[in-house]
Amino acid sequence: MSDVTVTEFAEVLEVPVDRLLVQLYEAGIEVSGAEDTITDDAKLELLAHLRRSHGRKDPGASAPKKITLQRKSQSELRLTSGQGRSRTVNIEVRRKRTYVKRDVLEESARKQQEELDAQRAAEEVIVAEVERLEAERVAAEKKQKQEVAEASEAEVRRQEEEETKRQAVEEEASREAAAAEAPPASEPVVEKPPAEPAPQQPRKQDAGRKGKKPGRKEDHTLHVAKGASARRRKKKSRRRPVHVSVDSQHGFERPTEPVIREVEIPETITVSDLALRMAIKSSEVIKVLMNMGMMVTINQVIDQDTAVVIVEELGHTARVLNETGLEDQLLKSIEAAAPESDDAPRSPVVTVMGHVDHGKTSLLDYIRTTRVASGEAGGITQHIGAYHVTNDKGTITFLDTPGHAAFTAMRARGAQVTDIVVLVVAADDGVMPQTVEAVEHAKAAGVPLVVAVNKMDLEDADSDRVRNELTQHEVVPEDWGGETLFVNVSAKTGEGIDDLLDTILLQAEVLDLTAVDSGPASGVVLEATLERGRGAAATVLVSRGTLNLGETLLAGQEYGRIRAMFDEAGNPVESAGPSLPVVVLGLSGTPMAGDDM
Ligand code: GDP
Ligand code: MG
Repeated sequence: MSDVTVTEFAEVLEVPVDRLLVQLYEAGIEVSGAEDTITDDAKLELLAHLRRSHGRKDPGASAPKKITLQRKSQSELRLTSGQGRSRTVNIEVRRKRTYVKRDVLEESARKQQEELDAQRAAEEVIVAEVERLEAERVAAEKKQKQEVAEASEAEVRRQEEEETKRQAVEEEASREAAAAEAPPASEPVVEKPPAEPAPQQPRKQDAGRKGKKPGRKEDHTLHVAKGASARRRKKKSRRRPVHVSVDSQHGFERPTEPVIREVEIPETITVSDLALRMAIKSSEVIKVLMNMGMMVTINQVIDQDTAVVIVEELGHTARVLNETGLEDQLLKSIEAAAPESDDAPRSPVVTVMGHVDHGKTSLLDYIRTTRVASGEAGGITQHIGAYHVTNDKGTITFLDTPGHAAFTAMRARGAQVTDIVVLVVAADDGVMPQTVEAVEHAKAAGVPLVVAVNKMDLEDADSDRVRNELTQHEVVPEDWGGETLFVNVSAKTGEGIDDLLDTILLQAEVLDLTAVDSGPASGVVLEATLERGRGAAATVLVSRGTLNLGETLLAGQEYGRIRAMFDEAGNPVESAGPSLPVVVLGLSGTPMAGDDM
């Protein structure tokens, strides 16, 4: 735009010329009159001045960047004190809120971004520089190493040469010495000079290396701080020792089809153990269990059935292990070893029963003291729970634990030891509640009775009354047309005792008692005690086979090798056949009465 006069400019602006002149004057633009020309610069200056004077400022530079509003609110608070007087407090709340224009924030964000970019660029430059330096350092190191290697090789070569030279010199010297018969004193002198510098040289090198290394290390730590080079370094050091030959082939082959395992499952198994047996992770097993609705942990014990289901679910086959299998096998082998045809007659086992104070203990004591040979010194003399007596007609084993409790306890444990029950009834007292109870026990067990009518020495003894009363309980004497044998005895005087023993043996004959008396023994524990200095002592009654000293005995939960055996009189014995009670020593603990052995 070419320069125009003030008048022309006023026309363009549609303002009076005078006013324009005033405005120009206010803007500080000097013009001499209406016909004076004004430059473009002058026009722009005028525009800026006009804007300034109108309060409209340059939009980019002078728009308000933020507006701060202050608000004030006043309120009254009326307080009522305890005495009924009220007090008024004036409260003035002043709030100040600042609004910042968005473009200002955008501007600052942009600036920050730029700064960040610049910083990053600078960092990249630094990293590149660091990498370059590192590469240089590695190259230098390599070069140095090569040089060292070459130098050492050269050194070795030089030493070898020297050595050969020295040997040659030595040989020559020794030859000369031999020729001149001179003492070989020069030898060590010759040998020493080359020997000394040889070990020194490497030491010097070592020192040099040691001296250099720390310095390098410092450099290195500087690099590590930057991060990038550390990664490179690690990778490098890891890569170095691996020598992979391309055609190397490991000996394992990936299975081409699923391996189906036969998994042995005991009665209980932990989840982790089960997983191990299937060669899978425990979590897989847990997953299967979860699908089945069971929440388990790795160490949880699961039962056999569940384990079988899991194994089958995972496509393997389960083999159930039976933990009592061994014992069953043993019992079977025992039965096989002792065929039925080997049956031999055996003596009866007798239990004495009856009402309290009718004389059971007295009777057993009388028989033992009069019929059992007293024990040798040092043997067992205490009550062992059973004994046997022998007369010209045979042998009888008495269980020395009278009472119904013992009898029923035995039966409850499944041990049918008793062949004949001797029912003691006091002739002066007659049938009493426990007498009736004993009759019922014997009947329930299917064991025949022999009735001993005791206390016949007493004046008021009435054996017929006893017979009469027992008949009411279906125990009918033989001479009254029944099956039960009755004997009148006195545990005090011993009257009728021999008769009683004969009657028992007669009854046994009727029963035709037999047992296998060879092969491994089995039987029942009658009593067991733990004795100081002796350990567990168990009275056992063999029911089949023969128990020998030194054999291993399993009784209930206890087991052990038989250290010693005694009969009821305390005499040591070597073996015990059917129906013969013996005390065995050597068990690990005290078994329960009635335990099988
Ligand atoms: P248990 O409870 O059945 O064992 O009876 P005991 O053997 O303890 O005897 C109880 C009481 O009867 C004791 O005081 C014995 O002395 C006594 N007694 C046992 N048998 C006879 C006997 O044949 N004649 C007499 N007069 N008394 C006896
Ligand atoms: Mg008693």
